[in-house]
Amino acid sequence: MMTRRQAMKTGAVAGIALATLPGALAQTTPVAPAAVTAVKGPFTLPPLPYAYDALEPYIDARTMEIHHDKHHAAYVANLNKAVAEFPEAANQPVEDLLRDLGAVPEKIRTVVRNNGGGHFNHTLFWQMLKLDGGEPTGDLAKAIDSAFGNFPAFKEDFSKAAATQFGSGWAWLVVDSNKQLSIEASPNQDSPVSQGKQPLLGIDVWEHAYYLNYQNRRPEYIAAFFHIINWGFVADRYGKAVA
Ligand code: MN
Repeated sequence: MMTRRQAMKTGAVAGIALATLPGALAQTTPVAPAAVTAVKGPFTLPPLPYAYDALEPYIDARTMEIHHDKHHAAYVANLNKAVAEFPEAANQPVEDLLRDLGAVPEKIRTVVRNNGGGHFNHTLFWQMLKLDGGEPTGDLAKAIDSAFGNFPAFKEDFSKAAATQFGSGWAWLVVDSNKQLSIEASPNQDSPVSQGKQPLLGIDVWEHAYYLNYQNRRPEYIAAFFHIINWGFVADRYGKAVA
């Protein structure tokens, strides 16, 4: 219960806030929605490396279209807007910005973390997907067996990480600086590169990645994901990371 003294105090503060509100509003410069898309660079949306329907029936064309053309495009636009007044940040690859977020100007650090992360993660994600993308082979297959026991065990661990990531985020297969593989989950658009690790494979478990086709059935989307992993691309990233 609020005491009479507290009530009076709260009322007085509210009165002051109301009195100053019109002035505060008048000083706020309206931001046109078009301002976000007006900035053309330096970061650009890479084209989807295949047709929207290339991953059907596992991911539907409409989901791919919205995911790439709207969601990924928005991360790029917001990143460009953020770095517009910071040339030193604008001149670096997004991966370098994410690798050392502490060096990013504080004013735009959170925007870069979220939207730079979104840009980097999605650029990788499109390349990680391919219909009938095979299975791990060669050194990558050996490393998976060594780290997780065998491929089914890896699949189970990875799926569990993706299913249990609360809210929006990603599950990843990463390799660290000691060349060790591990599975990690990250919230929002946080990227493993900010933890000094190289993402080899990632699954986007934001609802925008699957909701049109799977609604709340995230485990079905995760199971479908295993039909469209581009293992050749993952193996190539692994080879470069441990070279
Ligand atoms: Mn996404």
